[in-house]
Amino acid sequence: MATKDISGDEDFKMYFYENRVKTFEGWPFDEDCACTPENMAKAGFIHTPSENSPDIAMCFFCLKELEGWEPEDVPEKEHKSHSPSCHFIALKKKMEELTLEEFFKLQKERRKNIISKTWNEAINKFEEASKKRRADILKTAMGEE
Ligand SMILES: [Zn+2]
Repeated sequence: MATKDISGDEDFKMYFYENRVKTFEGWPFDEDCACTPENMAKAGFIHTPSENSPDIAMCFFCLKELEGWEPEDVPEKEHKSHSPSCHFIALKKKMEELTLEEFFKLQKERRKNIISKTWNEAINKFEEASKKRRADILKTAMGEE
């Protein structure tokens, strides 16, 4: 999941619970489980599946990605334990219940998270590329011996 996918204005709609629920199409856990789409969305998650990991969910606010869900996992609890500094889970309010101040604070924090995540991804990419380059240079050097 590329961070740019969730940084556009279009994703403003993900602030709303109803829209987050809709992302959980094909989610493997149903009403007999603790981590239903409804509970996931209530805890701020959106479904961000990839080919290899169909059960990845990401907090729309802190951008924490969690996978390997078990039927008895309580989304809110998991969210808190894996991302204790998330403002959304700390507020635990619906979009409609937020004060303007809370909303702006949430938005500011979310922007910060997006920037730091984008930054980290860029650094990782650079490090991967450097590693590969170094390996290539070594290979060439060894070959010449
Ligand atoms: Zn979060």
